[in-house]
Amino acid sequence: MQNFGLDIWANKNFIIENGELKLNYKSMPSLLSIIEDIRAKDVKGPTLLRFPHLIKKQINSLYANFDKAILENGYKGSFNAVFPLKVNQLPNAVEAIIEQGKEFNYGLEAGSKAELIIAMSKTPTGAKITVNGFKDKEMLTLGFIAAQSGHDITLTIEGLGELETIIDIASECNLKIPDIGIRVRLHSAGSGTWAKSGGMDAKFGLTSTEIIEAVKLLKQHNLLQHFKMIHFHIGSQMSDIAPIKKALREAGNIYAELKNMEATSLCSINIGGGLAVEYNQHSHSKSYNYSIKEFSSSVVFLLGEIMDAKGVKHPDIFTESGRFIIASHAILITPVLELFSQDYQEKLLNFKKVNPPLIEELRELNNLLNNKNCIEYLHDALDHIESLLTLFDLGYIDLQDRSNAEILVHNIIKKTLYLTNVDNYIELEQLQANIQERYLINASIFQSLPDYWGLKQRFPVMPLHHLDSTPLRAASLWDITCDSDGEIDFDADKPLYLHDINIDDEDYFLGFFNVGAYQETLGMNHNLFTHPNEYTVEIDDNGYKLTNTIESKNLLDIVESIGYDKKLIYTNLEEKLQNSDFITEKEKNDTLAKLELYLQQNGYLRTTN
Ligand SMILES: *Cc1c(COP(=O)(O)O)cnc(C)c1O
Repeated sequence: MQNFGLDIWANKNFIIENGELKLNYKSMPSLLSIIEDIRAKDVKGPTLLRFPHLIKKQINSLYANFDKAILENGYKGSFNAVFPLKVNQLPNAVEAIIEQGKEFNYGLEAGSKAELIIAMSKTPTGAKITVNGFKDKEMLTLGFIAAQSGHDITLTIEGLGELETIIDIASECNLKIPDIGIRVRLHSAGSGTWAKSGGMDAKFGLTSTEIIEAVKLLKQHNLLQHFKMIHFHIGSQMSDIAPIKKALREAGNIYAELKNMEATSLCSINIGGGLAVEYNQHSHSKSYNYSIKEFSSSVVFLLGEIMDAKGVKHPDIFTESGRFIIASHAILITPVLELFSQDYQEKLLNFKKVNPPLIEELRELNNLLNNKNCIEYLHDALDHIESLLTLFDLGYIDLQDRSNAEILVHNIIKKTLYLTNVDNYIELEQLQANIQERYLINASIFQSLPDYWGLKQRFPVMPLHHLDSTPLRAASLWDITCDSDGEIDFDADKPLYLHDINIDDEDYFLGFFNVGAYQETLGMNHNLFTHPNEYTVEIDDNGYKLTNTIESKNLLDIVESIGYDKKLIYTNLEEKLQNSDFITEKEKNDTLAKLELYLQQNGYLRTTN
């Protein structure tokens, strides 16, 4: 039996019971039962489920670990956090974050004008808003408007030009002046795929010379009392804790220096995001090398140590980790539509009265295979198939012979896999890669797992059921886009094995996990596959409730969303059918009704058999 690395990536959020994957929370519903509920409402296609309790769990864990570290280290500053909207801006995610974070005064971070508008309307008064990224005068003015409207907002400047604009705005209007932060450019860089945000050649931040210049400017314009925060962010999904420690030492010393210069109002240090999420399902390749406990105590200890050494009051700590908070809350569930190598079924064998001798031998190997001889027989079979394929190329055997040979060899390999312990045979693993099954999933990788397409980021994937039997089929996953990049290939180093299911007889559902960070708005409508159906699942002691239903866009709305006039499109289709010949009026009307129904359905496939 296999647990698909649940003990590695799942953080005890799920358990396997009676062959099904269940939420490890309160009434512990199985994911299969939830998805069957949804499909009973005639909702077809991929479905994204959101679980607010998993957001709560992460927020709790972040605050609890930092608060504990603060207590243990006798640290004098407070801990605060904001959620970076870039990681997931969709309303059902953001509203869940605000709801679950209420008791902590959890705020929002914005990196663009549109995100700032969301932050200004959704952040509860009293909770923090931080603003990063490049800003023009309008965006900075929005920050003043937010401050005037009662928000606790910090505009973090990415360059001196932004500071000059802030000075201009302050002199031009009487709006309340927001707090000002400075993003510092560190010479310490992060690690991992996303680590391009730190280092001297980074896109963001002020050099030490520019920081000194900024303080001068602030003082000159009588704004120094608004300078409250320094900020850095060394990159998302930090794989190693060493670079963040280095960055903390650097930023901590900059903070202390500034305090000892003239920046007396400076009171907080914002350490950005970076907390990693486990995406790996295989024990030999973990995504990162630290725990939230180690991370929080390192941050608190180091900052305390640096400040004590320089005789500076401990700053309040802010974090902006979003991936850590939101990744686990969303699961993408996709039905499998087809298994592509199913046609190598034994029942499709069609022998002749007289078969080529090598085929007769394959038949015998297949019949006599047992756990003692299987490796030897397998080798014979592989040898025979090579010869048979050559015979076919030379015209000595026909297509039926070739088909029989391929079915027999597939069967021998399959049986061998059942009969031996796969782990012991590297050769067998390799063979599995060669005979891998292609599982066609009713989803678009471009839409729902764009980081796989763009960065080859794998996400944990597993079936929701059949978990009491050992999966033996080496699997690659094909999505339904007409693009060969829409495939998650079989990786012999990190293999995925799935079950041998007859899709004509039963459904088979796969779940992709930890898809709550970045994927949704990064996802693209390639081939015009749009956002999947989505539901929020609120679990209580007696069951669960499905809320916030959003069905995947219907066909007419899809074409409208890229600029077509959906009414014109509809009348065009209707007229052409109306004016067509050779069918009865009744059949015409029935067909029109059918067309209308189809246009109201979403763009994913509807049938699983
Ligand atoms: C993207 C970003 C974050 C979020 O980081 P994660 O590590 O992905 O959670 C935080 N702060 C800033 C400034 C960012 O640009």
